[in-house]
Amino acid sequence: KLTSREFHPENTIVDVDGVKIGDGSMTMMAGPCSIEGLDQIRECARIAKAGGATILRGGAFKPRTSPYAFQGLEEEGLKYIRQAADEFDMKVITEVMDEGHIDMIAEYSDILQIGARNMQNFKLLQAVGKTGKPIGLKRGISGTIDEWLNAAEYIAAQGNFNVIFIERGIRTYETATRNTLDLSAVPLIKKLSHFPIIVDPSHGVGIWDLVPSMARAGVAAGADGLIVEIHPDPVNAWSDGPQSLNEKTYMRMMQEVHIMEKAM
Ligand code: PEP
Ligand code: MN
Repeated sequence: KLTSREFHPENTIVDVDGVKIGDGSMTMMAGPCSIEGLDQIRECARIAKAGGATILRGGAFKPRTSPYAFQGLEEEGLKYIRQAADEFDMKVITEVMDEGHIDMIAEYSDILQIGARNMQNFKLLQAVGKTGKPIGLKRGISGTIDEWLNAAEYIAAQGNFNVIFIERGIRTYETATRNTLDLSAVPLIKKLSHFPIIVDPSHGVGIWDLVPSMARAGVAAGADGLIVEIHPDPVNAWSDGPQSLNEKTYMRMMQEVHIMEKAM
């Protein structure tokens, strides 16, 4: 398998237009769950960058559980996140839900994110594979490690070796947290594959005050980076407010992460 460590013994470094993921340093991605407007995403970019993030996250096409919930600002949102990222010299990661949107989203975003709900949307995986762009591949809500590796294989089979695994928690019998963050996936994926893996503690637990601990745990587990949801005013966020960090908590978390990184 192209994704396997046997096929490719050295770590693959994914180069996102100069930001290298998997080179031994931690790559930090932060931003809101949803892009809500230009002012909001600019404020998120300012905070994200101040804490040391180099990649700005934010959804413009949102896979909401309810069809009546906010679905995203679509192309308008993509324009805003690109503008905000450029202003703060950051790269962009945003989700692609539909094959038909790939070309448009690729014009604005440096990394294409495949959401948990689409981990086994095989046509979508092949189509993003063909772009050759870096792909952030979230683990499926009930995805096994083997299914996740095979999802990456669909991308690699198109000649695209720019895959970034994103552990974002899986559904278990536990309901006290939104998902169960499977940190054993970090060393396991590193053993089985050459592609980098980052941790999303925000979707992993769904509760903001648990996020910093799990972010630190992700670093300790050997992750190549983190992707975290932040918001200038989490209580009024249009999506995922309960798991979003405010500026103060995010800055403290990033200080801790940087101390750990230096010590490792
Ligand atoms: C997100 O990143 O906002 C998101 C929808 O994540 P996931 O696909 O992991 O649920
Ligand atoms: Mn979210």
